[in-house]
Formats: sequence, C-alpha cells, structure tokens
Amino acid sequence: MFGEKTWGGEPFWGLGFEWDPQWLLSEEQKALQARLIDLCQSTLRANAVESDKKLLFPRKNFQALAELGLLGLIAPKELGGMGESHTCAAMVVETIARYGCASTAMCYTMHLGAVAAASLRHHDNPAIKDILSRLDKDCLIGTLSYSDPETGGHFWYPVSSGAERVEGGWKVRKKASWTTSGGFADWYIIQTTSPNFDGNYANLSCFLIMGDEVSADPASWDGLGLRGNQSGPMEVKDRIVPLDRLVGPIGDGASSNDECVDPFFLLCSSACWNGISLGLIDIAKAHTTRKTHKDVGLRVCDYPTIQDYVGEAIIDTNTSRALTFQMAQCLDRLTDNCDWSIHRDPTVLPRSQVLHWMWQVKFSAAKNVAHVADKMLHACGGTAYKPQLGIERYLRDGKAGWVMGPSNEILRQFVGKASLLGFQSLDYWNQTINERAIANEVKKMSPEQKRELAERLLAEAGIAAQAAE
Ligand SMILES: Cc1cc2nc3c(=O)[nH]c(=O)nc-3n(C[C@H](O)[C@H](O)[C@H](O)COP(=O)(O)OP(=O)(O)OC[C@H]3O[C@@H](n4cnc5c(N)ncnc54)[C@H](O)[C@@H]3O)c2cc1C
Repeated sequence: MFGEKTWGGEPFWGLGFEWDPQWLLSEEQKALQARLIDLCQSTLRANAVESDKKLLFPRKNFQALAELGLLGLIAPKELGGMGESHTCAAMVVETIARYGCASTAMCYTMHLGAVAAASLRHHDNPAIKDILSRLDKDCLIGTLSYSDPETGGHFWYPVSSGAERVEGGWKVRKKASWTTSGGFADWYIIQTTSPNFDGNYANLSCFLIMGDEVSADPASWDGLGLRGNQSGPMEVKDRIVPLDRLVGPIGDGASSNDECVDPFFLLCSSACWNGISLGLIDIAKAHTTRKTHKDVGLRVCDYPTIQDYVGEAIIDTNTSRALTFQMAQCLDRLTDNCDWSIHRDPTVLPRSQVLHWMWQVKFSAAKNVAHVADKMLHACGGTAYKPQLGIERYLRDGKAGWVMGPSNEILRQFVGKASLLGFQSLDYWNQTINERAIANEVKKMSPEQKRELAERLLAEAGIAAQAAE
C-alpha cells in the first residue's frame, strides 16, 4: 500500500510512506505527490533557505509549481484547471511545506483561498473566468487581503474599507494591515463593506483587484518566520474598477467567507502546519540516527528519551492530520469533489455548515506544530539551535500558526462559546446586546449615577431619532 519514498533517486532520509495516510489518495494523486516531492528536492527546498535569509518572495518556486499545473489545482476543469478535490489540496500544501518551503506553502494557501473565492462566483463573470483560465500559463499568483489595521485579527470587520458605484464601475478603497504575497501577487480578492453600506458591518462585498491597482510596501516586511511570505501592509486608494470586478452579488462577502475563504484557509493552512511538523520530524530522524556519542558508543536515537520525543510527535501530528484529512473528505463529500458547478445556484453553500469543524482543524494543527518544533529542537540538541540543520527555520515558520487569524485564542473561544451559548452568541459584527452584563453593571450604580446614565441615554436616543428623520 505504501511504496518507497525517494529523494533524488535515493531512499528518503526522513519518515517513509508507512507513516503517511496514503490510502486517502487516488493513484493520480499519488503520482502528483511523487512529482511534487521531486520538485521540492530539485528546486523548492534550496530556495526556501534563500527566501528566509534574504526576505525573498518565492516567485521562482511559484514558477516551478505553475509548470506542474498546480496554480490551477482546484480551478474548474472547463477553464483549464485540474478540478481537484479538497483532499488533494491538503496533500499538495502539506507536501510543499514538508519537503520544500513553508513560505511557499503559505503563499500557495492564500492563492488557493483566492482561487476558491473566485471559482465560487465565476459562472457569469468574464473578468474572473479570464484570470482562472490563465493561472498556470501566465503564472498568475492570487492572494486574500482581508485583515484591517483598525480591527486586528477580526478580519471579517473591515472598517477602513468601502466601495461605491460610480460612472464606469466601482470606486474601491481598502486598507490591509497584512497581506501574504502583498505587492508581489498578480491578483487579489479583497473584502470591503458593500456599496450600499448603512452602518451594518455584516453587509460585506468582495472585489477582484489586479496587482497594478494596489500600493504595497514590501520593504517594510520583516517577520520572525515565513519570511518569504511578504505579508506586509497594502492599500487600494479609491481605485475605479470595471463592474465585473465585483465577485458575486453585492452583500455576498459573509457567504463567501463562510463558504470558501475560511474553509480553504483553515484547511490548507492546517496542512501547512502539519507539513512543518512532519518536516521537523524528518530532520530529527536524519540527525539523531547519524550522530554518535563516542564515549558510550550510542547514537542519539538510541536513547529512549529521544525515541519518546519522536514517537509522541508522530502520534500527535498524525492525529492532527487525521482530523485535517477527515474534514477535507467531508468537504469533498458535501461538494461532489469540489465541483464548482453546484454554486450556479448562489444559495448552495454546503461548506458553511461545517465551518465550526474547520476551526477545530486549524486550532489543533497550529497548537501541535509549536509543540513538535520545541521537542524536535530538544531531540537534536544544540545543533538544532543553529540554522544549518533547518530545525530553527521551521520552528520560526511554525510560530505563525497560532497567531494567524483566526488566532487560536479566537478559535477556542468560538468553539467554547458556540457550544455553550449557541452560534448566535458569537456576534461577529458586535450587534447583540449582553443584557446580563448591562444589568450587572447597573446594579453597582448609586441612584445618582443611574439618573446621570438615564439622562445621557435619553439625549443620545433623541439625537439618533432626529438623524433618522
Ligand atoms: C505570517 C502572517 C501572514 C498573514 N497573512 C495574511 C493575509 O494574507 N491576509 C490577511 O488578511 N491577513 C493576514 N495575516 C494577518 C492575520 O490573519 C491577523 O490578522 C494578524 O496576525 C493579527 O495581528 P494583530 O497584531 O492585529 O493581532 P490582534 O488582533 O491585535 O491580537 C492580539 C491578541 O489578542 C487576541 N485576540 C484578538 N481578538 C480576540 C478575541 N475576540 N478573543 C480572544 N482573544 C482575542 C489575539 O488572539 C492575540 O493573542 C497574516 C499574519 C501573519 C502573522
């Protein structure tokens, strides 16, 4: 069932296929995985070191991926894409992160998120169809620009962005605090408040914006890890774009988030964190089986403590992979293997039903990678503390997992709160009043303080009523 894993024609130096869930892949997908491992060996892995050292955007790696047709991995077949499944997307991202380059895997994750958001609403949109049909031929790298400088990790709340209908199209403005591939991508899916915005932040829309329509400052990017990722600030300054750059109908932003942007980001970024965990274990295997202590005549891997570290890391990582791939298969089942034609009816949003499961996938993969990185550093000792072994870079790369939005603090809150109080309690757009908190605070007030508050509220209500007339 497993076959031999090779590296440049030789047996692979890390964990073999017997530790990978190969039974999840079709023969075609296994062949793609083998070609991708070869590409990592010949090209992507060496470029990862250069990207990290020089803060270099991994365009060379993207060109190599485009040659394998991978920029169109999940794009509709009729537009020249591979039309592949969620399971295949998770495998590809994991493989790039594990054997090749974690920065490339994260830029590719954002690319797939953008391709998904575009494919969801491509049906009657010539601008989107044009981009999707040229992804590999012209190596068109996409990305998602959502996070707003004013709302931090609450990327669904774009207070600095907006759009309005003008002569000849839409006038779009967007301020983004972080955008992977920012300033390097060829096209962006961005989220703004809708053209008919009236103060309700749940009313969001998405736009397709081209690389030459954004202002970015790549030189300001300098992160701890994923240094090739170039996730700097970016701006669209009152740019007028044609009508067909609106992705989906006005007000489709929240549906697009729940159906594509979030599910794909959560799935593929988790595959990236799992890939980094596996990459760390591979290096630890290679190092600890080679290094010998002359005094006792034992290799590092002969110590039971080291065996325990590696055993636990494999078990925890495969537990995380099991959930990741289980949910990829669930998404495949819900969408007839990622068939975009089901979305001709815009109300068909099957992935959204299991978003709360995708939160759990990302939480566990991002939590696990930090632990595995720590333990593989311990297993390899001081040598791992130096860059040459590669553990140090992977450790820094993996640290992005916990903080990338939705951060793990937010995710465990979502899961705990939704399970205890119901999904409506999540109140993404700050619209639900917490009556218990109000009652409790008012209880603490003196009669005088209550009177003052009542007068202030009455005055505010009067002003609001006048404004509404
Ligand atoms: C490498 C990297 C790449 C990125 N790429 C992109 C990209 O391509 N596109 C994009 O749109 N964004 C991207 N981001 C941004 C990311 O998704 C977050 O928006 C960003 O990391 C938030 O940073 P912040 O300093 O504003 O954190 P803050 O939001 O200020 O968070 C600070 C702390 O508060 C916690 N916190 C915040 N809200 C809550 C809450 N409601 N409950 C409990 N705790 C809370 C956080 O978990 C964190 O611990 C990227 C980030 C990184 C690190």
